[in-house]
Amino acid sequence: MASRGASDDSAPEPEPRDGRHCPACAGDIGVWAIFRAGLPNMIRCPHCGERVRYEGAGGLLVVLFVLLAAVAYIAYKLSASVFSRSPLLRILAFAAFLFAAWVPIELAAAHRLRRRCRLRIG
Ligand SMILES: [Zn+2]
Repeated sequence: MASRGASDDSAPEPEPRDGRHCPACAGDIGVWAIFRAGLPNMIRCPHCGERVRYEGAGGLLVVLFVLLAAVAYIAYKLSASVFSRSPLLRILAFAAFLFAAWVPIELAAAHRLRRRCRLRIG
């Protein structure tokens, strides 16, 4: 009676299915890859270059768009009131206000995606 069953030692590791590790190479994609992508469906793994996306991130995407619109409106009003006489300074202030307000939002979204959602290749 010859046994042909595969041993557990030779079985491949199951692919990681969390929000931190690339499904292709199992490396931690980190926060910067999510931040740099801007959207949770345009992420590239910094280790293997595979394009990955978060499953079930549609609700968060809608929230991000609403927040972006609100932050842009507030940044516009703020820059227009502070630099009402100089269009160049107003544009620079708008960009600075928008960036300063958006960085913590994007970082919070990246941390939430890593904790709550799962990555898949795509
Ligand atoms: Zn990878």
